[in-house]
Amino acid sequence: MRFGQDPELDELRERVRRITRDQAPKRRGRAGVRAPEPEEIPQLRRWTATLYGECFVGADWPVEYGGLAHPHPQHHAVVAEELARANAPLPVGGGLLAGAAIIDHGTRDQKDFFLPRIRSGEHIWCQLFSEPGAGSDLAGLTTRARRDGDNFIVDGQKVWTTNGQHADWGYLLARTDADAPKRRGITAFAVDMRSPGIDVRPLREITGTTDFNEVFLDSVVIPAANVIGEVNAGWLVTNSSLAKERSSAGGGLTLFRALDDLLDVARSVRVGGVRAIDRDDVRQAIGGLIADAHVNALMSAYGESRAMHGTGDAADAALSKILFSEVNLAIAEFGMQLQGGDGVRVEGDRHAVSDGWWQDAFLYARAFTIAGGTNEVLRNLVAERALGLPRGADRGRH
Ligand SMILES: Cc1cc2nc3c(=O)[nH]c(=O)nc-3n(C[C@H](O)[C@H](O)[C@H](O)COP(=O)(O)OP(=O)(O)OC[C@H]3O[C@@H](n4cnc5c(N)ncnc54)[C@H](O)[C@@H]3O)c2cc1C
Repeated sequence: MRFGQDPELDELRERVRRITRDQAPKRRGRAGVRAPEPEEIPQLRRWTATLYGECFVGADWPVEYGGLAHPHPQHHAVVAEELARANAPLPVGGGLLAGAAIIDHGTRDQKDFFLPRIRSGEHIWCQLFSEPGAGSDLAGLTTRARRDGDNFIVDGQKVWTTNGQHADWGYLLARTDADAPKRRGITAFAVDMRSPGIDVRPLREITGTTDFNEVFLDSVVIPAANVIGEVNAGWLVTNSSLAKERSSAGGGLTLFRALDDLLDVARSVRVGGVRAIDRDDVRQAIGGLIADAHVNALMSAYGESRAMHGTGDAADAALSKILFSEVNLAIAEFGMQLQGGDGVRVEGDRHAVSDGWWQDAFLYARAFTIAGGTNEVLRNLVAERALGLPRGADRGRH
């Protein structure tokens, strides 16, 4: 996607390309945002430091913590596009999400301690929100934190914790007031993942990889100084990072790379005795997906620009995430469909197209429709906040 001639953006694009070509670690041939293997962590920490150091990410952070005074409204979009095209990794862990919460709600000491360490790659973060009984209904979480002098003592269980196995710090939500209305009794914490009482158990998924973990917390001691925001005001803190999570998922520029790969598949396979790319129905379907990808890219740039000017609302990121995840899923499904029976071949099978990448993409693509709030719940959000429809009785994570 191009936003017209702009020397500042052209220079940025060239810089991302050059530094990515020279320094980006190679990613395994997997789709989506995947947890790395342990041996990949040191180089990913270094790459994370480069991404922040060059302001390829975190450009919108306060200047004193490494951000740019006046980032171009399309800064993020251009970087995301070039990283996706080069198949370069994003910063490792959830530091951007925890960073958003700390920037908006953290104390001066927390900002001074955590933000530089996120930027340098020293601290990998995970997000400890979801529980077996609290996903969409996040406010129903039951992990408890009780005050004990200068500390809180935490007991409970989290699940679907991406990068939990690699994390140095966890951005945790726990209930601190069982009697308050659900959203008013939750507190956000920064928890040292090496604290006694934390047990991280990796989960093996349908894709064969281990992107998630269960995390058990058994009498874990967290200093009260690690409360992010006010006690019992964790819901407010969470909103800072959830918006960030949705808007970054909805960046959507990886769609263009997937579309290039889809065109390669259409050129290389035969459907009904002819090259797939020569069939009108295939060309029309791909044309439709390309149009959707452009709409998504423009919507996400629009949302980004509104956020920078303080005129955005919660529906922007939600819409962008819904569209991105559904177009991404449609591309993966169509890529599989074009391959017919060969689509089920997996990595390592010498007849698999692109060494089974499409299989992996197809299985993983649903994850984006769920992560950061499911698309059903986000549609509720759009209905209520953007269209002003009556609030439903059944509330999701928004
Ligand atoms: C790739 C990925 C990474 C993730 N990483 C993390 C992480 O690092 N940390 C973390 O804490 N969590 C993480 N999650 C968990 C994610 O936040 C939850 O999966 C999500 O919030 C949904 O919760 P759930 O899985 O419990 O589904 P449920 O809430 O049980 O939902 C089940 C189904 O019911 C529907 N539903 C629920 N409520 C409503 C409603 N009000 N209206 C309409 N439909 C509804 C949902 O849309 C869904 O289809 C991750 C998930 C994915 C897929």
